[in-house]
Amino acid sequence: MKPSVALARFTTLGLGGPAALFAEIEEGGDLVSGLEWARGKNSMPVFILGGGSNLVVSDEGFAGLVLHMRTRGRDFKENAGELRVEVAAGETWDDVVADVVSRDAAGIECLSGIPGSAGAAPVQNIGAYGQEVASVIRQVRVLDRISLRERQLDATACCFGYRDSIFKREPDRFVILSVTLGLAKAGRPSVRYPELMAVLGDNPSVADVRIAVRALRRKKAMLIEEADPEPRSAGSFFTNPIVTTAVADAIAARVDGDMPRYPLPDGRVKLAAGWLIERAGIAKGFRMGPVGVSSKHALALVHHGGGTTADLLRLARHVHAAVRDRFGVALVPEPVFLGLDRPT
Ligand code: NAP
Repeated sequence: MKPSVALARFTTLGLGGPAALFAEIEEGGDLVSGLEWARGKNSMPVFILGGGSNLVVSDEGFAGLVLHMRTRGRDFKENAGELRVEVAAGETWDDVVADVVSRDAAGIECLSGIPGSAGAAPVQNIGAYGQEVASVIRQVRVLDRISLRERQLDATACCFGYRDSIFKREPDRFVILSVTLGLAKAGRPSVRYPELMAVLGDNPSVADVRIAVRALRRKKAMLIEEADPEPRSAGSFFTNPIVTTAVADAIAARVDGDMPRYPLPDGRVKLAAGWLIERAGIAKGFRMGPVGVSSKHALALVHHGGGTTADLLRLARHVHAAVRDRFGVALVPEPVFLGLDRPT
């Protein structure tokens, strides 16, 4: 356990103060010891850190213990056309997708290039191009933070929703230890969004879809690569709002031209947060000192260097107010906030 460890370098934004205490978790036993130790210290707060790609840390840091999940392992099994893989929480998500695609299995190819760890994937039920990780999750092995016992949760018990799960709603309840996925061996890739169809030929393989998705994400500065000169973000800063048809109609009436709107099975309508931001007058590339909006994607707030989390929050409030004033829609921030309340 190390004292006063700067957390900025563990986040893609490169912002935030130190953790009072910090430990790397290489195996499940270390995790239980860490949690028991914190419990013995007057229930010191504990934060479980994954890839840091969806995380905003306060400038003051975190007055508790940060446990960085670094467990590794991918255990593959085949059974009647299904490829099952149990993935340790500390694995990098995109490495898992690459491995699964190289085995010609379908189910997560559209989730290529999403940053972060495998253990974080179920938390916000990562999704892209019409595919969601919830649809292939068979089990999530967790440590119950109350009993300090392991449990297996099936997909129903995870209460998955749009970018939502029990892990997001009850953040201090479980630590995800591993995720078991069920993929279709030699299955057909899922290609639902026209944007993806447009760049693929006939009969694409899962490998073709992976290449195309990574290329699309790269174009939108949503792919984290070492050599990339683009400033880093925490991915989409706001979720796409889901509203009633009446609200969507009222918003559409306020703008010239067509508004992107996507009907959901429950009768409500999903709106595109990035589109609302741009139509509220905040263009791609907009800057507020050391932070700004990505020049490639209005939904990504970026840190150009030399800034603080306070700068980022000022920008987030500015974007939020612009959309609220123009359309009456309150955007909801997507990242996890550590050491501070969710802004706006
Ligand atoms: P976009 O094309 O600017 O469209 C804006 C939003 O409209 C998207 O977020 C998407 O919602 C929705 N949308 C677009 N086409 C749709 C369709 N045919 N049917 C239903 N909904 C549709 O989107 P973008 O920001 O560039 O992102 C493209 C894809 O990459 C999206 O699926 C997005 O979710 C995904 N992505 C995911 C993450 C993440 O998981 N953190 C980060 C970046 C991008 P959905 O987001 O619900 O798909």
